[in-house]
Amino acid sequence: MTTDRLVEFDEVTTRYEPVIGLETHVELGTASKMFCGCSTTFGAEPNTQTCPVCLGLPGSLPVANEAAVAATIQIGLALGSEIAPWCRFARKNYFYPDIPKGFQTSQYDEPLCVGGHLDVEVDGETYRVEIERVHLEEDTGKNLHVGGATGRIHGADHSLVDYNRAGIPLVEIVTRPVPGAGARAPEVARAYVTELREIVQALGVSDVRMEQGSLRCDVNISLNPAGAAEWGTRTETKNVNSLRSVERAVRYEMRRQAARLDDGGRIVQETRHFHEDTGSTSAGRSKEEATDYRYFPEPDLVPIAADADWIAGLKAGLPELPAARRSRLQQEWGISGNEMTWLANAGALGLVEETVAAGASPTDARKWWLGDLARRANEAGSELAELAVTPAQVAELAGLIAEGTINDKLARQVLDRVLAGEGDPAKVVEAQGLAVLGESDELVAAVEAAIAGAPDVVAKVQSGKVQALGALVGAVMKTTRGKADAATVRRMLEERVHTS
Ligand code: ADP
Ligand code: MG
Ligand code: ZN
Repeated sequence: MTTDRLVEFDEVTTRYEPVIGLETHVELGTASKMFCGCSTTFGAEPNTQTCPVCLGLPGSLPVANEAAVAATIQIGLALGSEIAPWCRFARKNYFYPDIPKGFQTSQYDEPLCVGGHLDVEVDGETYRVEIERVHLEEDTGKNLHVGGATGRIHGADHSLVDYNRAGIPLVEIVTRPVPGAGARAPEVARAYVTELREIVQALGVSDVRMEQGSLRCDVNISLNPAGAAEWGTRTETKNVNSLRSVERAVRYEMRRQAARLDDGGRIVQETRHFHEDTGSTSAGRSKEEATDYRYFPEPDLVPIAADADWIAGLKAGLPELPAARRSRLQQEWGISGNEMTWLANAGALGLVEETVAAGASPTDARKWWLGDLARRANEAGSELAELAVTPAQVAELAGLIAEGTINDKLARQVLDRVLAGEGDPAKVVEAQGLAVLGESDELVAAVEAAIAGAPDVVAKVQSGKVQALGALVGAVMKTTRGKADAATVRRMLEERVHTS
């Protein structure tokens, strides 16, 4: 692999304007495949989820999966697309071992959904990403290239193919070219995929796991000299499979293309591969050698004419979408847009929402999830949602503080025990005797002992040095091992020291 010369990122946009375009593939979570009844469960033994249809055996006939069509329409509706009153599937012909039929059943000039847009926010600035089309197709199988000392057959490297994935419904969402993002282009690309992913997740039509490939992205990028009337030639970095990689791929291509253009070279239209380890891209197929797919309408499937009533029903059934949910919660909780972005990025939105639903105040719920719990998740290298504490338990903990049963300090001890699996907060408080002491005999005794044990401090307080009282409060807190309420202790001390 050649090492590309790169321009400093900050310099790129002093001379060039980037244009980005994203093609996102979403594997739908339907129970069966797009054109047959085979199961779509991930991780099964290779080639156990296949049949004559998805293996493309002669004489087999496909039938479109209604649930997949409905899910595609829902995605289109969520993006504000027009739903075509009539559309067709098309054959995209090419030969590759992971494509058993010799063609992929896709949509070409007659997609199911057309147009729409998605607004994303980066650094308080809104960028509109226009949607070109949303169409339905089928996934390919998976090749596994085996080689090296152990993977050889008759002394040669070889490839295995698994057709379990072949024929799983795949929705492709294609954006129009997005100019105008400047140096923010990498973040805009990432924000777009993040938001799209959340929408699809909210619709519940895919598990959107990028690491398993159920959501993957082709990242197109071109540069044109600042102020030029025409866009430059794009490259297409294929199958980028994490949000971070989307951003890195755009960043790298901007730097590489800028260096190439600076040197008087030209950008060739080609597909490129992204390398996670180095954050770089390398050349794949160039457009000149690209296959002519010889698209033609699929003769074995009837066209789809989605009924207006059906579409209206799907529209009425759309859940609250992420952007609407965020602005509603922001209002309800009385927080700033920045705080909301922060909560959303920390993956804490749902947790805080459930904690509030379980009775905590929004302030308390945020305080626990973004404070102590975020720190613990961080230390454990896990996600907030993976912590062994439920929103209901966090709400219970906040309730115990609010009613004065425990203070913040005790609450942290209680939380430790909840996380260690010792049960709900109230049970832990009870079992460990962790409740704050009221004005009990035990506390009175501790207060009196503190006064008796430090006559010099008492004298100071009486001579007007009120801050000296802190030492006595500290002593009482120490003997009661943090179980006393500091304000109560201070009041009890004041009463006694001044009258003595
Ligand atoms: P292909 O199948 O060749 O990838 P598509 O139309 O499916 O073509 O997707 C092309 C993608 O590239 C779209 O997202 C489009 O917005 C984007 N695109 C087109 N021209 C440019 C350009 N000059 N710079 C950046 N992106 C572009
Ligand atoms: Mg493409
Ligand atoms: Zn099948």
